[in-house]
Amino acid sequence: MTDIGIIGSGISGIQLALRLQQLGIAATVYSARDIEGLKSGRPRNFPARFAPTQERERLLGVSAWDFPDAQVHHWAVTVHTAGPVLAFPARLTPPSSVVDFRLYLPHLVGEFVDRGGALVVGEPAVEDVARRHDLTVVANGSHSMRELFPAAPERSPHTTPQRVLCSGLYFGIDEAVPHSLDIHFLPGVGEILRLPFYSPAGRADVLAFEAVPGGPLEAVSHMDAEADPGAFHREVLDRVAAYAPSLRERIDTSDFSLIAPGEVAQGGITPVVRRGWARLGDGRCALAIGDAWITNDPLTAQGANLGSHTAFALAELISTARGPFDEGFCRSASARLWEHARHVVEWSNAFLAEPEPHVAALFGQAAEDRRIADAFVSAFRDPVAMWRTLSSAEGVASFVSDCRKGRPAAALSGTE
Ligand SMILES: Cc1cc2nc3c(=O)[nH]c(=O)nc-3n(C[C@H](O)[C@H](O)[C@H](O)COP(=O)(O)OP(=O)(O)OC[C@H]3O[C@@H](n4cnc5c(N)ncnc54)[C@H](O)[C@@H]3O)c2cc1C
Repeated sequence: MTDIGIIGSGISGIQLALRLQQLGIAATVYSARDIEGLKSGRPRNFPARFAPTQERERLLGVSAWDFPDAQVHHWAVTVHTAGPVLAFPARLTPPSSVVDFRLYLPHLVGEFVDRGGALVVGEPAVEDVARRHDLTVVANGSHSMRELFPAAPERSPHTTPQRVLCSGLYFGIDEAVPHSLDIHFLPGVGEILRLPFYSPAGRADVLAFEAVPGGPLEAVSHMDAEADPGAFHREVLDRVAAYAPSLRERIDTSDFSLIAPGEVAQGGITPVVRRGWARLGDGRCALAIGDAWITNDPLTAQGANLGSHTAFALAELISTARGPFDEGFCRSASARLWEHARHVVEWSNAFLAEPEPHVAALFGQAAEDRRIADAFVSAFRDPVAMWRTLSSAEGVASFVSDCRKGRPAAALSGTE
């Protein structure tokens, strides 16, 4: 019987494990932290999971947050341009799910174990894992695995962070529209986002700065929120007042604070695509998925969604494989997974640059026509359709034409 070792219990590793379990394939998950450990610690990320990821969760029978406080139904987009400010509301259909991974991951890992899955807590060497299984999949984006999977320069245009992040979980922010996300695009400065988030303390809001390095939003990313909370909160409010004044009006200073000390994730992420497989000796090979393979800047909200997509696609390749899980399998599986992943990478990298004229024009058309706004925002769930649209002026023209003909489904038919 085929037996797979999976290193990492993030969304990529645990969804792969659950899917293999469902397909009747033995899987062992190696996790640095036990289930209680996954519930604790500082937030590391604030993932919004779009509809296809939620559909996969329903298929796995692990869907647990189908209620409005854990969902985003609307977006309010503000684009600051050299000319007038463009602002448009849009409906996100279906809604995204916004659940803290300190709730999400323990639930999925618990389900895997309850169904008889093997969870080994610790950080074994990859070679040791490889000796015990037919195939080893590395799904842990931590530093220790990076040497095994060197960056692929031809797929990684950036070698430094393009944004420096400061994302926190706060109380004291009101919404203009219930269950909505606000995003402010500030060319040359970065982005400011606010979104509802279902946290361990219940409903809260993420307030996130995506600062262009060296720009006026960066300083807050280097402040120690625990050492001097007063100064940190003042700086956050000052930056919001200066760059997203409509959002500042909805913050009540007397209630505004992080939901607890340290509830903030700060630092720069260098977008990188690594080689997707590694030789381990003895003819054995390991595959990388999720952040261990591809790390994107979070601006396009794709990393966790890509990890889930890749987990299912890889489970399918494993379950239909005819030969051994050797270097040939790893190379060809990684090439197959890249066919989808490249859309995420190319779109995410392009979105970090100043918008091309055809993308700026699309924002203008979305501000004038609600059908275009709704379809654009809803396309975040489908990176293939999104990149087909944004990668060329022809793509935008065809997207706009489908929306104007009342055919948003045609505008949004990627491979998700
Ligand atoms: C600020 C920020 C915002 C983001 N927003 C989005 C978004 O909106 N949509 C999206 O799709 N992606 C988003 N991402 C990216 C997303 O979080 C990662 O791509 C995804 O979590 C990678 O999962 P993984 O399983 O491949 O690897 P890893 O995250 O490296 O998982 C491996 C190990 O990390 C641990 N782990 C990971 N996250 C947590 C956690 N929060 N708490 C406890 N343990 C954890 C687990 O122990 C696991 O074994 C965001 C990232 C950041 C930093």
